[in-house]
Formats: sequence, structure tokens, C-alpha cells
Amino acid sequence: VKDIFETMDYGPAPESAAEALAWLVDQGDRFGHFIDGDFTEAGEGFESKNPATGEVLAVLTQATQGDVDAAVAAARKAQPKWEKLGGHGRAKHLYAIARLLQKHARLFAVLETLDNGKPIREARDIDVPLVQRHFYFHAGMAQLMESELPDREALGVCGQIIPWNFPLLMLAWKVAPALAMGNTVVLKPAEYTSLTALLFADICRKAGLPKGVVNIVTGDGAVGEMIVGHPDIDKIAFTGSTEVGRKIRAATAGSGKALTLELGGKSPYIVFDDADIDSAVEGLVDAIWFNQGQVCCAGSRLLVQEGIAERFIDKLKARMDKLRVGDPLDKCIDMGALADPVQLQTVRDMVDGCTDGEIHRLNAQLPAGGCYYPPTLITGLEPSHPLMQEEIFGPVLVSTTFRTPAEAVALANNTRYGLAATVWTENVNLALDIAPKLVAGVVWVNATNLFDAAAGFGGVRESGYGREGGWEGLQSYTKPKGKAKPLARQEPFAGDKIEPE
Ligand code: NAD
Repeated sequence: VKDIFETMDYGPAPESAAEALAWLVDQGDRFGHFIDGDFTEAGEGFESKNPATGEVLAVLTQATQGDVDAAVAAARKAQPKWEKLGGHGRAKHLYAIARLLQKHARLFAVLETLDNGKPIREARDIDVPLVQRHFYFHAGMAQLMESELPDREALGVCGQIIPWNFPLLMLAWKVAPALAMGNTVVLKPAEYTSLTALLFADICRKAGLPKGVVNIVTGDGAVGEMIVGHPDIDKIAFTGSTEVGRKIRAATAGSGKALTLELGGKSPYIVFDDADIDSAVEGLVDAIWFNQGQVCCAGSRLLVQEGIAERFIDKLKARMDKLRVGDPLDKCIDMGALADPVQLQTVRDMVDGCTDGEIHRLNAQLPAGGCYYPPTLITGLEPSHPLMQEEIFGPVLVSTTFRTPAEAVALANNTRYGLAATVWTENVNLALDIAPKLVAGVVWVNATNLFDAAAGFGGVRESGYGREGGWEGLQSYTKPKGKAKPLARQEPFAGDKIEPE
């Protein structure tokens, strides 16, 4: 990183990476875990790379069972005192964190873009402001806990595992409500994108957060498994793939641990023939090409009414051909790089394996050497086609047509997922009729990708269960007062010993 810093070959990109690279250099480019208020010595590790260039940004440490045990022990020790601070006492800390997140907004945004490949415009204008809002909102909610949730108390220690698509935002969704309700946390960021979580740890230290309240361990899925299986953790909050969510559900069954799962999706984007077509096209650009399509609630299945289908697809292709894919630090681009070469290969394999339908791709030279994939549209697939059913998690939109509202609902619900749906029509009666029939945790009308800390977000079916945000999200970090500890943490009674026959 020192070499990159000194040569600064980010060229004319308007957003400077200097401050973020200087922060990495300051840390020695190597990171340990954040346990009990301090960074541990860096150990055996793995590289974290910039997906737009392939350059190594830092070396991170793969947590061992001992590290996870130490993090859980620190969180356990800190929890009673943190809870006893009361909602107002905890709010002061959450406000302090929120203010520091604001103060260092640019540093967080650039570091996120370097680590994840997302356009700086999105990191700066969407991710980081939403993160700040999440901490401010939950600071306020912490103050309401005693009066509004008088019969509830903290769960204890929460194990939190997050994905790489919105690294800092997913951290905020997990950490802010947990802390507001009096819990302490052990969080594991995704292995591709841990840097903003480590910067967040630094911010917690600067904000004077008591030791052990937030602990961050880095590493791959094996570390996630250690957290899930840890007997001294009271709740697991997971965001990631449906496949891993299923494993976690099996691993926690019968353990008494509370569990919330935010998983994948294949969300329908339904356009009726009376829709404001230009707005619907623009909405779709956001629905599927925001964050390179690596969005759990991406509107990745276009269902367009037959009467306007041809006109709509023509306009969509014309708009698509104007999208700019390039250096994520360039403020003018629409799409950056995918988060990792593994993810790029997954998307490539899925699309290359498709021999049906008609594929339209952005016809432009993509920058060399990074994880770039062009905006892609596939029309004319059968509803049962694997690409109409499986989450691609990349900038690839699939589409089909429908004739009647009933057919639109049937097609929309023809999926194992149920995270989000978008309806586009000028007829409010039609929208209000359709929305409740869609099997999805959230339905947007004439809009898409609206998120707010005050609104619960989550899915049904294989998109998971539980909600994050709002009162529902807060409640899931509490239990009724006086409720027994999970079985794994109960002291065995002497009389329980069963002698072998
Ligand atoms: P992933 O499931 O591969 O990984 C997510 C996290 O789980 C990572 O930190 C990973 O290290 C960890 N992990 C991997 N194996 C594990 C195991 N056996 N036990 C415990 N932890 C394990 O998912 P991903 O590829 O990082 O993220 C993409 C997925 O996340 C997509 O399916 C997307 O839809 C979903 N997602 C959902 C939401 C939501 O709110 N519903 C939000 C963002 C992403």
C-alpha cells in the first residue's frame, strides 16, 4: 500500500484515495482482531484486495477458536455493565459513534469503495449516510427502551455474521440495534471486505465505547461456524446466502439461541402498461445495477405487461447502453467492479451456461484487470428457467411478459424467495390490490430500494425470517424480562445427572 500511496496511480479519478491509503499505512497494512477494546497482534492471515485493480490493500488475520473464545469472553464480561448503563447512558455512546461516523464519512466511503469496488458516488451518498442514520436512530430508540419496552431486557451476547455487498451498512444494521437494547456483540465481517469494520472498531475506541462491547474477528466461513457454535452466545444474527443460512439454522436448532436470518432474493419488478415508462426504466436501472446488482433485494426479475413490453425493452436497452462502467473512485461512473474474482466467476458461469433467450450486454470496453462485468439483460426465458429462479447476485436482469394482473402475481410469486417486490403503475387501486398479494417482506410502489432505519426490513420463505430496523428489529434483540438463559448456558442441576444403566 505504501507503494500505491507514494505513486498514487489512481490517475485523474476525482475522489482521492490518499486519506484511506494513509490510514492503512498507519495501521501497518496488517490487522489483528478487535477484542476487548484493543487490536490484537496480527497473525496468520489472508490478503484483502481492491477488486477494481487486484492490488493488495492489507493482510487480515484468520481468527482461531482461541480468538473467538476471547472475543466472546470479553463481550460476556462487558454485557451486564453495558446493560446497567440504561438506555440514556447507552444512547450517549451511540450518538458519539454516529458523530464520528459523520466526521470521517469521506474516509469510510473511500475505504469502502477501495475494498468493495462499489462506485464512490454510492458509498458516499447512500451507504455511509444510511450508516450514520442507523446509529442516530438507534441512539434515540435506546432512550425509549425503558418507557416503551418496559417488560423487555437484553438477550446478552450476540454473534453477528455479515456479507460483502454492503460491508459497513450491514455492520450498522446489526451493531446499532443490538447495542441500543443492552447487548454486546462479536461480529465477523465477510472475508473480502473487512476493512471498514476494522476502521469502525478504531472509531469505537475513539468514541470511548467501553471495552468488550463491540468485538470484531476476521476470517472466512470457518470463523462464522465457530461463532454459530459457541455455547456462550445468546443470539445469532446472520445476513448472507440462503445456503449458509440453512446450515446456521440447522446448527442452532435446539441450542436455545435466538436467530434472525436475512438471506437471498429474486425480487420481481412488475411494470403495468399504464406505468410512467421513463420513470420505471430509471427505477429499474437502480433496481438491478445499483451496487453492480449485488443487492439482496435487487429487482432482478422484470415482469412487464405485454402491451408495452417491446417499447419498454427498447427504452431499457437504450438506457443500458449509456451506463458507464469504470474506476469505482471516479464520481461519474454508474457501475464499478464486482466484489471479488470468485463472485465475478460465479456470475460469468451462470450467464455463459445460459443457451436460451436473448442476451443483451452493454457494448463498451471495460477497464482491464479488475472484476468488471457488463450490465446484462436476458429476455425470453421460461419462468421455470434456472436464471429466472436462481439468485445471480450480479448486474444481470432477466425478463418475461404477462397479460393480466393475476398472471403478474402468479409469476411474481413463482419463486422460493420472498424478500422484496416492486410494482409500477399509475393506477393506485391496482397497486393497492396487487401489493398484498405479493409474497415479499417489502413491496415498493413506483419506487425501489427505499431503506430507512425506522422501517423493518426482511424476508419470507427462503429469504429468511426476522426483521432488521424499526421496532421489530429492536425487539429481536430483546427477550421478556426474567426469561431463562439458553440451555447451553444453564448450570446443570446436580439432580439432573443420569447414571448409565
Ligand atoms: P455467504 O453466505 O457466502 O457469506 C456471508 C457471511 O457468512 C460471510 O461473512 C461468510 O464468511 C460467512 N459464512 C460462510 N460460511 C459460513 C458458515 N458455514 N457458518 C457461518 N458463517 C459462514 O454470502 P455472501 O456471498 O457473502 O453474500 C451474498 C448473499 O447475501 C446473497 O445471497 C444476498 O442475497 C445475501 N444478502 C442478504 C441481505 C438481506 O438483508 N436479506 C443483505 C445482503 C446480502
